[in-house]
Amino acid sequence: MAKKKTLENKYDWAALKIEDVIQTLKTDPEKGLSSEEAEKRLKKYGLNRLQKYKKVKWYEVLIRQFVDILIIILLIAAGIAFAIGEVGDALTILAIVVLNGILGFVQEWKAEKAIEALQKMLSPKAKVIRDGKQIEIDSKYIVPGDIVVLQIGDKVPADLRLIEAVNLKADESPLTGESVPVHKSVEPVKPGTPLAAKSSMVWMGTSIVNGVGKGVVVATGMETEFGKIAKLTQTVEIKPTPLQRKLAVLGKQLGAISIAISVIVAVVGWIAGKPLLEMFMTGVSLAVAVVPEGLPAVVTITLALGVKAMVRRKVLLRRLQAAEALGSAQVICTDKTGTLTKNEMTVRKIWLPCCEIEATGYGYDPAGHFEIKGKKIDYHKYPDLLELLKTGMICNHAKLIHDEKGWHIQGEPTEAALIVAAYKAWLSVPDLRHYTEFSFNSIRKRMTVIVDEDGKKVAYTKGAPEVIIERCSKILENGKERPLTEEDKQRFIKAYKQMAENGLRTLALAKRVLPENIKLTEDEVEKDLTLLGVVGMIDPPRPEVPPAIELAKKAGIKVIMITGDAPETALAIAKKIGLPAKKAVLGEDLKSMSDKELKELLKEDVIFARTTPENKLRIVTVLQKEGLIVGMTGDGVNDAPALKKADIGIAMGLRGTDVAKEAADVILLDDNFASIIGGVEEGRRQYDNIQKFVRYLLSSNTGEVTAIFLNVIVGGPLILLPVQILWMNLITDGMTAVALGVEPAEKGIMERPPRSPKEHILDWKGIAMIVFLGSYIGLATLWLFHHYLEKGGAEAVATAQTVAFTGIIILEKMNVFNFRSLVAPMKVIGFLSNPWLLLAWTVTVGSQVAAVYVPFLQDALHTVPLKLEDWALIFAVAVPIFLVVELYKILRWRKANKNA
Ligand code: ATP
Repeated sequence: MAKKKTLENKYDWAALKIEDVIQTLKTDPEKGLSSEEAEKRLKKYGLNRLQKYKKVKWYEVLIRQFVDILIIILLIAAGIAFAIGEVGDALTILAIVVLNGILGFVQEWKAEKAIEALQKMLSPKAKVIRDGKQIEIDSKYIVPGDIVVLQIGDKVPADLRLIEAVNLKADESPLTGESVPVHKSVEPVKPGTPLAAKSSMVWMGTSIVNGVGKGVVVATGMETEFGKIAKLTQTVEIKPTPLQRKLAVLGKQLGAISIAISVIVAVVGWIAGKPLLEMFMTGVSLAVAVVPEGLPAVVTITLALGVKAMVRRKVLLRRLQAAEALGSAQVICTDKTGTLTKNEMTVRKIWLPCCEIEATGYGYDPAGHFEIKGKKIDYHKYPDLLELLKTGMICNHAKLIHDEKGWHIQGEPTEAALIVAAYKAWLSVPDLRHYTEFSFNSIRKRMTVIVDEDGKKVAYTKGAPEVIIERCSKILENGKERPLTEEDKQRFIKAYKQMAENGLRTLALAKRVLPENIKLTEDEVEKDLTLLGVVGMIDPPRPEVPPAIELAKKAGIKVIMITGDAPETALAIAKKIGLPAKKAVLGEDLKSMSDKELKELLKEDVIFARTTPENKLRIVTVLQKEGLIVGMTGDGVNDAPALKKADIGIAMGLRGTDVAKEAADVILLDDNFASIIGGVEEGRRQYDNIQKFVRYLLSSNTGEVTAIFLNVIVGGPLILLPVQILWMNLITDGMTAVALGVEPAEKGIMERPPRSPKEHILDWKGIAMIVFLGSYIGLATLWLFHHYLEKGGAEAVATAQTVAFTGIIILEKMNVFNFRSLVAPMKVIGFLSNPWLLLAWTVTVGSQVAAVYVPFLQDALHTVPLKLEDWALIFAVAVPIFLVVELYKILRWRKANKNA
């Protein structure tokens, strides 16, 4: 691979004039680079990413398969077998170890690949201008000279020299540790200014917390300041999940037990006069029998397949353990706009001091007109309406686009809806010079843009009605400004509340011609405004949401709406989607509430409105103190703390800011509440299935230990040879267990309460089931073995061993059906509902047939051919293990459903 060329870092970009930067980098501030040029530069400078996330190398995964204490014991056993001349056994053990290594490798490698694919999906995006058009691309394709568009909430994708900045502020804490946002401007700085003071630059890895801007890329990838100091960002955290950790502990415990049992049995047997070698091999068999060797690989592959299954549910995991947490979610705090509703805004009503106007039309298509009481009006005759619509257009960052795909938008739907409304009066976006802007965020709940209009500075403001009215001292009526009276205020409040009660999202608009020498700060500008009116937008609920709410209710999950919107709107929407909500509490009211009061409040059917991110954080904290597993959605720059604090931070994939996404555990690809509930169901399914195969594998192992152990006590030849145990544990059980991992969700999975976070992977019921079924397997095998031994004859031992070996495998294969559900009988599950399991079953039983009849496998596994009646007897002994449990399940199922 060609070595990446670096851009000579000889320029002090921050100190250069914009024109010089543009010229040096041979780009165009309006049109950006052409695609061909970008392609060329990509080849020259390489991808814009920090050191590649650490890719796991294939040989590392392969080596991992062999550095297992058990495998090492086996290798020693193979060595000893070889030393004493049992070359065949030694080779078989080696072959099985290698085969197991390869199987484990293939599975884990697939898991790694799945995680890598996930990394790719997570790769950050950036808005750039290329070929004269603003497009969104993967940040890694950004090249020096690209023009990047920035807005509040964006993660800066590379080092940029600013060429436009409107009240732009960046959080540079990841780079400099400075937690106060830094003001940015396009003015060149003095040469040699230290990094933290280079206000004309924004740096990769930092984020925009206010304003809008544009910059030219001057450095990418490892050439950026961040690249110089940082090692890794944007990675899926691949820490072991709590479940994997619990299983690792279980594995260690079993390992210790296995060594203890093996040593005791071997020593006792030897003292009782058995040959040392035979007892050594028995010890090894036991050790192999106790430990479920396939378990770690099966868990890894199941979690990795689970990642894909989650993506099908539109849930992207940023951390593997999030699936488990989702499965046990007890409370889900969700925002409203875009998650419960479609976030497709259409202005329906406009209140002006003179009158109430309705807008017709649908969606983003600007076809439509204005009406008063059902009669079309001539908007030219309503100057106040035109002023309000104009304000909505100026105080706006969205774009309305018309192309072959029809009408669609870029930016915020709330803002786009205002443009659509203005288009209905044939207005177009005025081209004005922007002085500065005070961005919208969910704390301010308003936005102001200051522009130059005929030589005057004019502020155009929009925001939540109660926030705007506080800052108004005048009102516009019939084209004239006059002081705002108390009566005006009351009419205004009544109007917006009425809109909100009908589920409309409300937004007030205001403007102010600013005095000549005013300081352009929020406090100075956003006061003495002239109120223009209120708009009410519909934002219909998503059709999938009411059934999802219903499902959550059945699943014992409490859903709490926490919205920035008005309480009346929130209640109206809650009603539409079937969310039980008796009252809406304002974020502000939480301030005066103690934690105890909030705790009590949270037990009621309550929703929260006009909240700030700080409120969200407090709600999560109080819920978690109650020991609840909490999911919390978020999208804004300020949501990061709440998302991090929640057990499951859920960021919105479409409308979420980079900052929110980075703080979250999962990303909703479609922003849809229903997908969260889908994710919960998927998480529950995965956890269920892991429980199923853990129990299945352990019951198999218990069966093997029981058979070997009792056989030592009863006396006689070895019942199962080490190679045979290896064969069944490593080869046949692993495959069936993986197939159990893809078992579909059980019926009623969402009708039971969430799992308690304290629950162990193995409860007493589970242990009882393992012991019972394990004992059956062990005893039945022992019986088969001794039944054949008693027949006597030259071949008796070899036949008995083959029957025991085949018998235990068939018993385990019949037993697997018991674990397809821990409660439901086969009729409910559907015998054919998991074709993978049937395939694994057929393959493993088929390989056992091969083990008995194919000559080289006969040699390797010490088997002899079986007769048909032997098979018949084996099945006769094996089938009841399924029938007994099935009968038990049927009876219990009937009883439970009768009671229900
Ligand atoms: P949720 O928190 O459920 O997503 P939300 O989107 O309504 O709800 P915020 O984004 O915090 O919450 O908005 C709160 C209020 O601020 C809105 O009801 C609206 O009145 C106002 N608002 C929303 N977007 C803008 C904007 N771009 N400019 C000015 N004001 C806005």
